[in-house]
Amino acid sequence: MVHAGLYYTPGSLRATLCQAGGRKLRSYCGTRGIPFDQCGKLVVALDDDEAQSLRSLQARAIENGLTGVRLVGPPEMAEIEPHVQGVLGLFSPSTAVVDFGQVAKAFANDIVESGGTIRLGATVQSLRADGEGGVVRAELDDGEIVFGSVVICAGLHADRLAISAGDLEDPRIVPFRGEYFELIESRRALVRALIYPVPKPRLPFLGVHFTRHVDGSVSIGPNAVLALAREGYRRRQIEPAAILELLRYEGFRKMARTYWASGLSEFAGSASRRLYLRRAQRYIPELEASDLGNRSAGIRAQAVDRHGRLVDDFVVHRRGSIIAVRNAPSPAATASLAIASYVCDNFLDDLPLISA
Ligand SMILES: Cc1cc2nc3c(=O)[nH]c(=O)nc-3n(C[C@H](O)[C@H](O)[C@H](O)COP(=O)(O)OP(=O)(O)OC[C@H]3O[C@@H](n4cnc5c(N)ncnc54)[C@H](O)[C@@H]3O)c2cc1C
Repeated sequence: MVHAGLYYTPGSLRATLCQAGGRKLRSYCGTRGIPFDQCGKLVVALDDDEAQSLRSLQARAIENGLTGVRLVGPPEMAEIEPHVQGVLGLFSPSTAVVDFGQVAKAFANDIVESGGTIRLGATVQSLRADGEGGVVRAELDDGEIVFGSVVICAGLHADRLAISAGDLEDPRIVPFRGEYFELIESRRALVRALIYPVPKPRLPFLGVHFTRHVDGSVSIGPNAVLALAREGYRRRQIEPAAILELLRYEGFRKMARTYWASGLSEFAGSASRRLYLRRAQRYIPELEASDLGNRSAGIRAQAVDRHGRLVDDFVVHRRGSIIAVRNAPSPAATASLAIASYVCDNFLDDLPLISA
C-alpha cells in the first residue's frame, strides 16, 4: 500500500518522507511501467468514540498538508464500500496500491544497470570501520569485503549489525508478526479497495485492515503478535537466544509491562481463527468463516527504546563512515525513495560511495 500520510506526527520524518516518497514512487512507477492504482482508502469508525478519533485524524491529515481527505456518513460509505458497516468514515482519495515486489525488482535493475552488484543469500556477520572516516570491513560468511562507506538497511537485524559496527545499544528491534488471511476468490467483491480501522492511540500499528491488491486479490490483516524469533514467520517458531536477548533488554521489559493487555489480545486473535473472523466481521458483517483462505505472515521490525517506548519516527544514526537505519517501520516502503534521498543528502555527502 502506498500510504498518503494521514497518521504521522506533523513535521516528523515519517510524515514528510511518506508524502515525498509517495510522490516519487508514483512517478517512478510511471517511468518503469509498474501499475500504480490510486484506489483511495476508507477508515471506518464503529462507534461514537471512534468517530471522535476519526475527526482528530482528519485534522491531523489536514495539518500534514493532505488534500481531499473528507469525512463521509453511512450513505456515502455505502457508495464507496457497499459491504462495510460503521457510523462514520474518513476517505483518503490519494492512498494507492502497488506491487512492491515489482518495485524492488526495478530498484535492483537500476543498481545493476548503473554498475552495482547485488549479492543475495549473503549474510553480513559484522561491520567494522578502520578508524574515524576509514574504510569499512564487512565480514561475510565467505570472507571480507572492504567499502568506502556503508549504509545499513537490515530491517529485523538493523540493531545487531549497527551495534557490531560500534553504534549505540539503543534502540533495539522487537519483531512483531503480522498475520494475514487471503479472502477466497469468489468473495473478493466484498472489498472494493482499502478498508481500515481507526488506529488505537499509543500503538504504532494500524490494525487489521482489508486490502485489494493490484492483481485483484484481497487480504485481511495484519494483526501484531510478538514474534518469538527474529524471523518468526510461523506461529510456533521459537528462537531461545532471541527470547533471552529480548528479556535482557530493559526496554522490552518496560514495553511488556505497558502493553501486556493488548499483547495478550493479539495472541488470542492469532490462536483463534474464530476470534480473528469476529474482529473482521465488525467491519464487514457478511464475512463468513469459509471466506478466509490461505494464511501468510510478515514481520515488522519495530524499534523499542530503553524506556520501553515503541519508537514512532524513522531513526538514522551515523558513526564515521557507517550509516545505520535503526528504525524504518511502515510507511518505509512508501517512503523508500525519499528515505534514500534523505540519507544521501544528510549523511553521505562527505563520504566515498564506491567500494574501496
Ligand atoms: C506485514 C507488513 C506489511 C507492511 N505493509 C506496508 C505497506 O503497505 N506500505 C508501506 O509503506 N510499508 C509497509 N510495511 C513496512 C515496510 O515493509 C518496511 O518499513 C520496509 O520494508 C523497511 O525497509 P528496510 O530496508 O529497513 O528493511 P527490510 O525491507 O526488512 O530489508 C532488510 C533486508 O536486509 C536483509 N538483511 C538483514 N540482516 C542482514 C545481514 N546481516 N546480512 C545480509 N542481509 C541482511 C534482510 O534479509 C532484508 O532483505 C509493511 C511491513 C510489514 C512487516
